[in-house]
Amino acid sequence: MKQALLTFVVALLLPTAISAKKPKKITQDKETFINELMSRMTLEEKIGQLNLLDAGQLNTGVGQKGVEDQSILNGEVGGFLSLMGVDRIREVQQYAVEKSRLGIPLLFGLDVIHGYHTIFPIPLAMSCTWDLEKVQLAARTAAIEATSDGIPWVYSPMVDICRDARWGRIAESAGEDPFLGSEIAKAMVLGYQGDKRHGGQYAPDEVMACVKHFALYGASESGLDYNVTDMSRVRMYNDYLAPYRAAVDAGVGSVMSSFNTIDYEPATASRWLLTSLLREQWHFNGFVVTDYGSIGEMRAWGCGDLQACSVRALEAGTDFDMCSRGFVGTLKKSLEEGLVTEKQINTACRRMLEAKWDLGLFEDPYRYCSLSSKKQKDVLYTDASRALARQIAAESFVLLKNDNHLLPLEKKGKIALVGPMAHAPKNMRGNWAPTANTNPNEFSTLLESMRRALGQQAEVVYAKGSNIHEDAQIEANWEVFGTDIRDPRPEAELLKEALQTVSDADVIIAAIGESQEMTGESSSRSDLSLPETQQRLLKALKATGKPIVVVYFTGRPVVMKWEKENIPAILNVWFGGSEGGDAICDVLFGDASPSGKLTTSFPQTTGQEPFYYNHMVTGRPTNKWFSKYATNYTDIDGSAVFPFGYGLTYTTFEYGPLSLSSDKLHTGGKIEARVTVTNTGRRAGDEIVQMYIHDTAASIARPIKELKGFRRIHLEPGEQKTVTFEVEEELLKFYDSNLRYVAEPGEFTLMVGPNSEDLQSKTFVLE
Ligand code: BGC
Repeated sequence: MKQALLTFVVALLLPTAISAKKPKKITQDKETFINELMSRMTLEEKIGQLNLLDAGQLNTGVGQKGVEDQSILNGEVGGFLSLMGVDRIREVQQYAVEKSRLGIPLLFGLDVIHGYHTIFPIPLAMSCTWDLEKVQLAARTAAIEATSDGIPWVYSPMVDICRDARWGRIAESAGEDPFLGSEIAKAMVLGYQGDKRHGGQYAPDEVMACVKHFALYGASESGLDYNVTDMSRVRMYNDYLAPYRAAVDAGVGSVMSSFNTIDYEPATASRWLLTSLLREQWHFNGFVVTDYGSIGEMRAWGCGDLQACSVRALEAGTDFDMCSRGFVGTLKKSLEEGLVTEKQINTACRRMLEAKWDLGLFEDPYRYCSLSSKKQKDVLYTDASRALARQIAAESFVLLKNDNHLLPLEKKGKIALVGPMAHAPKNMRGNWAPTANTNPNEFSTLLESMRRALGQQAEVVYAKGSNIHEDAQIEANWEVFGTDIRDPRPEAELLKEALQTVSDADVIIAAIGESQEMTGESSSRSDLSLPETQQRLLKALKATGKPIVVVYFTGRPVVMKWEKENIPAILNVWFGGSEGGDAICDVLFGDASPSGKLTTSFPQTTGQEPFYYNHMVTGRPTNKWFSKYATNYTDIDGSAVFPFGYGLTYTTFEYGPLSLSSDKLHTGGKIEARVTVTNTGRRAGDEIVQMYIHDTAASIARPIKELKGFRRIHLEPGEQKTVTFEVEEELLKFYDSNLRYVAEPGEFTLMVGPNSEDLQSKTFVLE
């Protein structure tokens, strides 16, 4: 980095320039400090605070990349994303602090999505734990690791409700349910930031979270990424907004606007969304950052040139322009032309400075760069964090089928591990862990983990069996993010080798599924079934007549109809993160019991999408397939292969009768729903007991059922526990056609059970 002597001298002469070395005790309060600082800022410097640039170390979007000395020097940049490594961050920070006129520190942000260095399972998998404590702990661990490496701001949690599995970014979400999604959003924000519900400064090991993508991005039409989103306000309020709101209520420091339109307006230009709803109704007081290049993309939506788009974004309530260079390039001109006001620029600038204050950057711009590399080792990828990631991964796997207790397997005999996911190093961690790229060798494949887990106790033989996809051209498209090397041999040869490998094995473990690059951003699929080459492999393995366990890797709900009908045991393992391989072995060989339950519905065919359990009632419901003039398909019965909330474990649970403390709930009062669950098997296990409610007498059509409570309980063999859910009026509220949040008197059905379909019910009346 070039060092301009002149600017260096200027910086030294300025009494207010921030010290490069030691934390500075600031005696003023936040408001006085920021007022005073802003009184010395030029218009250009204020606009500079609204400019977020891509340092280019990670590939998360298309645009100009790199650290720009001159922009920093001129005070034309407020922060960078995708700069990694504490030494580099310190160097760039030092340049800003020592060389720019006012020495305002930069804000460094990064996509820390499911862990920083210790990689946890993908968010969709994490949601399947229904374990809020662990979700919070994972976020806390990521915060400790990221801050130790220079990062004070992370682009997580992603809380978009998604009900269409074709959309690849469902992998980043907590699934299809707003109640569970809200609980997870809250847990993650608290894990990242600590409790900032009443504001306050961040501790040096806490990160500022950024809830995204505001809003409704998960409802992209046809499951196609970046596509239009359109829905009624009633649906928006009842089904999609709650998780963002939960993050705001938990004190989230920043919000990222989404790529999609809302009411035909780009989210980044929606004053209704970013100001009326977010700030005026929800009282959010952090800053709003755009998604990558969103202001520039508004040109395609017909919003005019970059200047016009920037005006609209600022007016709407956007503060930080990610990578469009719209604010920095045009706002001065717009001010001169009277298109924006100085007040609008000041407001956005103040929000950015407040965030930097809250993160303690004015007192010490190197606050997140202070750990020695020796100390860093005590924090990054520690035994404890790895053990946590392994435990969470095991909890996130969903046992979908287990005929005749095929699982857990005994550690003996000859085990054939076959399939393109068995030894696929880059496919273990999941697609939103770019920070893991620096440590690719730390992650074991399933084959490596299995050999370690079994040692001398059993023999493991391996064959790839097939490539992930039959079409080399399609597979080549994924290589932009680095996929596993394709085996150049013909399919028949791979298959032959696999059949030879399994010929004298006692059991086959088929590791199949999606490549991690088939989910995530820009990874929509039009067909959710297993790629054909893998289907052929699976059918051939099944034809051997040997016991077979499918270990399915996926970042979304997939079509598993044939697998359910033909394979005796299926363990869905998503992408389990850095410890995924070991965690799979823990579950396969019984050192851990599976306990995850699905947070998305698995369809019979792609044609059912969007597909979700909590759909509306219709005037012509049907319970059985097929009846003419009812809500059904002519070719399938419309049910899920595996429903929302579903998942097995190695023991069995028996639910006693459901009871209600009263069949009348009075305004201001509460009733209790109770059920006793008994572990009737021979192993200890965890059960996730779920409560759903249906409003049978409402002023508008309501979903057939909605999750309204859940408990994760642990039961030793023979043990019983009574689970109690409290039901108050608040739980029954929804947004009516006038968007009033109301609970309407009348009858409700309350349902309790192990998943969204296997339920006992009772009715009560709200009076
Ligand atoms: C994604 C965001 C991400 C951002 C920055 C965008 O393409 O939509 O989720 O945080 O890039 O990397």
